[in-house]
Amino acid sequence: MAGDDYAALLGRIRDGLSDEARQEAARLELPPVDVMWEGQKTFLRNFAEFPKVLRREPEKILQYLAKEFAVPAERIGEKAMFIGKRDPDDFTRLFKIYLQDYVLCPTCESPDTRVTKENRIAFLVCEACGAKSTLKGKYA
Ligand SMILES: [Zn+2]
Repeated sequence: MAGDDYAALLGRIRDGLSDEARQEAARLELPPVDVMWEGQKTFLRNFAEFPKVLRREPEKILQYLAKEFAVPAERIGEKAMFIGKRDPDDFTRLFKIYLQDYVLCPTCESPDTRVTKENRIAFLVCEACGAKSTLKGKYA
């Protein structure tokens, strides 16, 4: 299928969505990151808010950030600690990618999704449109 056809097809799928589903996608807003530096460590002070908003396991999200930054990370209460200095923008960027890859339904873009595992393969199941898609990564 040519690229243009594919884009047109996606456009048609999106046009067929209910307004409700679209509003839900717009509703999910990531909290602003609250970062503090101490020596050569970075603390994400409001780490705990992200798993709640994204509705994913805090451990998985921490592992994801640690892997992307390629540094050790640790949870300390509501906070997460990373070795090295990280910019707030780095966190924001990664959370956006995580949201795209692990939370939003690829069919309707609703954030109301959950993860199910079948024979160790993780699927994203959309509670808005019912689509079931495979997850690329292992941090869900
Ligand atoms: Zn969906």
